[in-house]
Amino acid sequence: MKKIRTAVVTGSNSGIGLGIAHALAAEGHNVVINSYSDRDEDHALAGEISAKHGNRTIYIPADMSKGDEARALVTRAAEEFGRVDILVNNAGIQHVAAIEEFPVDAWDRIIAINMNSVFHTTAAALPVMREHKWGRIVNISSAHGLTASPFKSAYVSAKHGVVGMTKVVALETAEAPITCNAICPGYVLTPLVEAQIPDTMEKYGMDRDTVIREVMLERQPSKQFATVEQIGGTVVFLCSDRAEQITGTTISVDGGWTAL
Ligand code: NAD
Repeated sequence: MKKIRTAVVTGSNSGIGLGIAHALAAEGHNVVINSYSDRDEDHALAGEISAKHGNRTIYIPADMSKGDEARALVTRAAEEFGRVDILVNNAGIQHVAAIEEFPVDAWDRIIAINMNSVFHTTAAALPVMREHKWGRIVNISSAHGLTASPFKSAYVSAKHGVVGMTKVVALETAEAPITCNAICPGYVLTPLVEAQIPDTMEKYGMDRDTVIREVMLERQPSKQFATVEQIGGTVVFLCSDRAEQITGTTISVDGGWTAL
């Protein structure tokens, strides 16, 4: 019989995180979804996931820009379910500006949410995983964890940092049945990305298809967005027994971006 695990997915009330939560819930696992807000809709969303997949999903608010809250998310999940087996570090934000003009508070927030939270949640989760002798940590980095683009200094730095941290955690847990890997998506069609299309159409005077092909997917050779279902499926694979010897590495889901 398949084992029911308990998974915590940071930043999971929309986009990729929500897709990952659905994918893990579909496997029957308990899932903790998270964001910094604490709205009725967030708790209702957890109820919808449970109703759809017949698993147990709960919502725990925690602000990933704050180290103590990131740690408390894992602690509260472990109190609620008795264990945390799977940790998916997904919460992330972006800001685009030339480095001389990059606002210091935007730099600090991106480093805190996209990178430092991974340190805090991992530090809180590892003792619980070691106690139960099993664990899977999946960090959602980016093609920008392996390559750079101008005007994204904080994002590129944080995502490269996450790839480095992934390797260190893998080495420190190599003899435990715990793995740590990073997924590096290219452009994924999330509501956040969808919302940028109309403005870009106006800015360049292009139709939707041309904006997607020539602007957004300029560096994605497949000329297709990756999907939240593909990222969710990759997380499920990394959490399966077949992936037991995959640790300390990156899996690109980027339509060939990093092959260029
Ligand atoms: P999104 O904006 O839809 O989701 C971001 C999630 O993070 C939301 O659930 C939001 O509530 C949460 N979040 C933001 N700040 C938070 C905070 N302080 N505390 C807790 N939660 C917080 O974006 P997305 O596109 O789904 O991105 C998810 C992850 O995937 C990010 O790490 C992003 O860098 C990465 N990524 C996205 C793409 C893409 O093309 N969409 C590509 C590569 C990597």
